[in-house]
Amino acid sequence: MFERAALVHYHEIGLKGHNRSRFEDRLRINLKAAVRGLDAAGDVERISARVMIRILGDDPVSREEVLQASSAIPGVSHVSDAVLCSREEQDILQAATLVMREAGEFASFRVDARRSNTDHPTSSLQMNIDIGSHLVSVFQRKVDLSNPEVTCRVEIVEGYAFVYARRLPGPGGLPVGTSGKVVALLSSGIDSPVAAWRVMKRGAVVIGVHFSGYPATSDGSTRTVMEIAQVLDRGLGIGRVYSVPFGDLQRRISLTCPPDLRVLLYRRLMVRVAEAIAAVERAKGIVTGESLGQVASQTLENIAAVDDAATLPVLRPLIGMDKNEITVDARRIGTYELSIRKDPDCCTLFMPRNPQTHATVAEVIAGEAELDLDSMVSEAVASARYRDFKCPSYRKPKVSVGAPWKDEA
Ligand code: ATP
Ligand code: MG
Repeated sequence: MFERAALVHYHEIGLKGHNRSRFEDRLRINLKAAVRGLDAAGDVERISARVMIRILGDDPVSREEVLQASSAIPGVSHVSDAVLCSREEQDILQAATLVMREAGEFASFRVDARRSNTDHPTSSLQMNIDIGSHLVSVFQRKVDLSNPEVTCRVEIVEGYAFVYARRLPGPGGLPVGTSGKVVALLSSGIDSPVAAWRVMKRGAVVIGVHFSGYPATSDGSTRTVMEIAQVLDRGLGIGRVYSVPFGDLQRRISLTCPPDLRVLLYRRLMVRVAEAIAAVERAKGIVTGESLGQVASQTLENIAAVDDAATLPVLRPLIGMDKNEITVDARRIGTYELSIRKDPDCCTLFMPRNPQTHATVAEVIAGEAELDLDSMVSEAVASARYRDFKCPSYRKPKVSVGAPWKDEA
């Protein structure tokens, strides 16, 4: 019986000196958190440009849980379902036979052996030949170097060898906790969860802020957003999600402001509330799910009118993406099915018949002249409800605003 391991690979491009060890430490901490509590999860160790998670026991279902959980973590390029064995030839041949048997039916294969330790006596080329001929004799399948159905990989490192034929793709990117913290405006729609995911994948800890139509509508959109956050949190990058009841504030705007500017004024207030929360959380950017020209509110003029209310950088990771590209991402991440539920959020409330598509900054500033913005922001922040998620890099603010959210369903 061989020992098994989930062998975690990451891209090393651009990783130098101090950055490299920061990246690797963070990745190891995040992977440890990802597999914590799983039956098959053993020690998590750094070994020559990889992280190895030792697998306990021999239950394939439990092993699969470790592989799945680790391959969801930003910074991971892929995870191999590996056999861990000695560097003895007999062991390597047996391990290769085992992983190829697990690979199921195949018509062609090749062997790709590497030594990261050149103290190993056999060259890579010779290993390819030896292991390849052994596998031909066992499986009676042909070798195809250019387009094989299965590749049997062997990595010789200090002290042992890894042998594997199956790799699960990871998200790539950077480990969460290496790029600071952002506040993401999370509607329950398709786009904003994808935007949040994209910055999480670039290493940022995400604090979600949702605006519900409550008390003018039910609070169903909050529940959906919390479920969406739970899906995103498979990447362990969500610190906390706030839900802010926005119905009353919108009503006040709709009573005193020009109807065609309402949507922009709602958005400007959302940005101000998000910044107040960012100040509490010490977050350094705002993320939204806008894509250029997708809807009336997403013209350059209107984007400028919203940005004018912000002091932090507003990041729009989807700005150049088409709706169908965003949808493909949402399906892959797993948020799509939740986003197409029909929960009214505040977006459906008090909508004007003809929203302005080319507002100027001067117009929106004049439009909100009657509003006591500071007290509206304080009111919004005080009435927020929040829920914490599992991100291991998240540090809660010393003094929280709002109150914990309770799902009353
Ligand atoms: P989404 O699919 O993310 O809902 P959308 O295509 O519906 O986006 P808009 O309604 O114009 O576009 O919203 C633009 C962005 O503003 C959203 O991507 C989100 O970041 C933010 N936003 C809109 N409504 C809300 C809300 N109720 N709560 C939090 N953020 C919101
Ligand atoms: Mg929306």
